[in-house]
Amino acid sequence: MGSRQVLKRVIVVLDEPQDPVNIGAVVRTMKNMGLGRLHLARPGGFEPYRIQAVAHTGADIIESARVFERLDDALAGTRLVVGTTARGRRVRRNYLRPREAAAEVVGAVRSGEEVALLFGREDRGLSNDELDLCSRIVVIPTDPRHSSLNLAQAVLVLAYEIFLAAGAAPPFKKPRRASARASRDELKSLVGEVEASLHAIDFFKAHKVTPILRTVREVAARADLDEREAALFKAMAYEVRNYLARQGLDSTS
Ligand code: SAH
Repeated sequence: MGSRQVLKRVIVVLDEPQDPVNIGAVVRTMKNMGLGRLHLARPGGFEPYRIQAVAHTGADIIESARVFERLDDALAGTRLVVGTTARGRRVRRNYLRPREAAAEVVGAVRSGEEVALLFGREDRGLSNDELDLCSRIVVIPTDPRHSSLNLAQAVLVLAYEIFLAAGAAPPFKKPRRASARASRDELKSLVGEVEASLHAIDFFKAHKVTPILRTVREVAARADLDEREAALFKAMAYEVRNYLARQGLDSTS
């Protein structure tokens, strides 16, 4: 199953979301990260127009969003339910980080399971009973004094990790070299030109020639100069000497 299909199948379940602005922001985030399905359990209000205004995009998600009277029904048919909570509560549970959970989510979807990501209501999150419905519980690490994220931002963190785990982010292409790597002869001639211009400004009255040129060579090697770049630096060094000669200031001539 390709990464797009994996992402499309993940269900985001919002339990009692109160603010259409948050629902809209969740929809936008889902579009950003390729997630396709939204279930709302007892939303404080489901006003597609207001949600759409915030989401900018995601009309398809809003149209196909399903609204349920009970959280149980919103989760019906799902095998792996990943709950989220801002802080580990008194009850002992096994908590996961988003990255670990994301790997499981992708694996489960690939093996054909229905997977839900469950988020709680803005003011009080998920209750212990609701967390009991979850097969995994994710805590997004934060400053412990400010552990409660905005609902859509919490969705984003988990969705982003799932996006990466699904392999949906293509690696950046390395820019192709505009010209070929400089040859050793070209580098040698660049260093020769630098040496001549440093002599011309009497640089070596205070510095030893060999170690300075070795450093120049090392820097040039590390920079991995291409032919065009090597030619440019060589021309700069040459023009220094040329200028000094024109002004009658070249200390070597
Ligand atoms: N005051 C509530 C926070 C609700 S924020 C509480 O303390 O639980 C709304 C929802 O965003 C939460 O129910 C949870 O699903 C998600 N969320 C917010 N911060 C989170 C965090 N640090 N880790 C995981 N989920 C978080």
